[in-house]
Amino acid sequence: MCGIVGYAGDKDVIPVLLKGLQALEYRGYDSSGVACLNGKDSRIFSIKEEGKLENLRARIDGDSKIKGIGIGHTRWATHGVPNQMNAHPHLDEKEQFAIVHNGIIENYVQLRAELEEKGIHFKSDTDSEIAVQLWQYEFAQSQDAQEAFRKAILQMRGRFAFVGICHDAPGHVYVFRRSNPIVIGLGKEENFVASDVTALLDYTKDVVYLDDNEYAVLSASSVEVYNLETKEKVDFKPTKIEWSSEQAQKGGYPHFMLKEIYEQPAVVDAVFNKRVVDHMVEWDTLDSKQEELLKQVHKIHIVSCGTAYHAGLASKYMIEENARISVEVSVSSEFRYSDPILDKNDLVILISQSGETADTLAALSEAKERGAFTLGIVNVLGSTIAREADAVIYTHAGPEIGVASTKAYIAQLMTMALFSIYLGQLRGVLKEDRSKSLIDEAAEVSNDVKRVLESQAELIKKCSKEFYERKDFVYLGRGYDFPTALEGALKFKEITYTHAHGYAAGEMKHGPIALVDENLPIICIAPQSKIQEKMMSNIEELRARKGIIISVGTEGDTALKEKSAYMFEIPAISALFSPILTVLPLQLLAYHVAVLNGRDVDKPRNLAKSVTVE
Ligand code: GLU
Repeated sequence: MCGIVGYAGDKDVIPVLLKGLQALEYRGYDSSGVACLNGKDSRIFSIKEEGKLENLRARIDGDSKIKGIGIGHTRWATHGVPNQMNAHPHLDEKEQFAIVHNGIIENYVQLRAELEEKGIHFKSDTDSEIAVQLWQYEFAQSQDAQEAFRKAILQMRGRFAFVGICHDAPGHVYVFRRSNPIVIGLGKEENFVASDVTALLDYTKDVVYLDDNEYAVLSASSVEVYNLETKEKVDFKPTKIEWSSEQAQKGGYPHFMLKEIYEQPAVVDAVFNKRVVDHMVEWDTLDSKQEELLKQVHKIHIVSCGTAYHAGLASKYMIEENARISVEVSVSSEFRYSDPILDKNDLVILISQSGETADTLAALSEAKERGAFTLGIVNVLGSTIAREADAVIYTHAGPEIGVASTKAYIAQLMTMALFSIYLGQLRGVLKEDRSKSLIDEAAEVSNDVKRVLESQAELIKKCSKEFYERKDFVYLGRGYDFPTALEGALKFKEITYTHAHGYAAGEMKHGPIALVDENLPIICIAPQSKIQEKMMSNIEELRARKGIIISVGTEGDTALKEKSAYMFEIPAISALFSPILTVLPLQLLAYHVAVLNGRDVDKPRNLAKSVTVE
């Protein structure tokens, strides 16, 4: 949450900052702002505005000719309402220091009281302002900008990232990172810093990821990295980014979300081609020692949040079916404080698109401390979970910009389906012919995804038009379809702002059935499977109470079609891969209902992608 950028070079600073912020806007859009120094003036020029980046852009017109250094921010508020005063960058009273911040400064109340006692006036309600006030206070003592920056950070508790500039060093940008993402982009006679690589793709593919508790000093011609405690210089190795800037554009679609939904066949293909060699599943990032550990594991815990939690729930069915190991799935924020019972025989799998999710990171530390073997399933290369877990598997979905996750979810499901086959093969519990037929089927999933997206689009639009004004929706599924019911309802809530709830279909009669009347659309995920008959009985119970059935079923299932006001069809497929298909109509349903209701699909209110606060 919160997108931060910084630049040192000879370009006009503000356009560079705005371009970076545009790419990061999915991380927060409560307010935005920039601050720059041109090397001649001792005062920092800053402009900030409430609301989306377009508001800031409208204010900046004409003022954009500053060369030198600069920082920018797009905010997802934690402390203080989203208004102009609380927008970043925060400046000291004399406007000689400016800082942008991502995260929470946990001891800000105490630090603020101490500084106020020393006569320092605060302008905002944020925790972030403390950072700039401390920096200028420390500078007043030592007249050393770099050391003052370090000393200020040493006094603040919490997980955060900062980028700052000051009048005393008009060519330098100061950067710090602890648990919140920061990546430095290396250019020719220019250098960049940002919360993630999508902001850098137009400028460079060579990046440096800071480790926790490292700070960096950037100028147009140099990047230096230091250890916070020891002040010693740290050697770093640049990484090459594979993503292209085209991948982070809308490419003719009205929304990133729609583009990302239609990228899903390619994503499934990419996962399959990367992982399957001669009917065997292989992982380029696991070594033989780690494979041996996976072979020995007694129990698996999957820990994740939001959509990734639903991928975790689906993974439980996959792994238990193919590898016959017991799997427990937890929401990260609960797992972390649950005093989990873990030891070296446990595998803890952490699923996160960004690899930066604060709750999942906290769960990772907890699991490591208790001696479990940890495996990150993440999309973003070099992200914190990828680096801190004992082992990592990348999901290769490419950059996902829409706040509501779609293709990253599909990539997680495909990866975990293959991982379950791999574990089954590794542990010798999945028979060879079964494993071979599953892999043959896996090769076809991409075509199936394409077919669903193409064949069902019009019907889903029609259904959306009929029901988009309803106030409540219920989603039901059993077994493999239960996580899909939860994910369908979550997608719907996130972008339509309409109440939707997912239940295990068998639970309906234990309470939620009281909601059913002739106005309630009930989305029943009921492809043909060994438990479809039970689902059909539930559908009859709902029809008897006049509920409106909208179903997701297998092509040619006339019995289900007869009972449904609408039936979205998927090709016949093994249960293992069915969550990859059944969720597709639900993504499109949420999308069209949101558009019909005039919602901001890519930036739904109150949300931000990559939740880096706990
Ligand atoms: N705590 C800061 C604020 O409220 C930054 C929040 C964040 O990183 O999400 O402005």
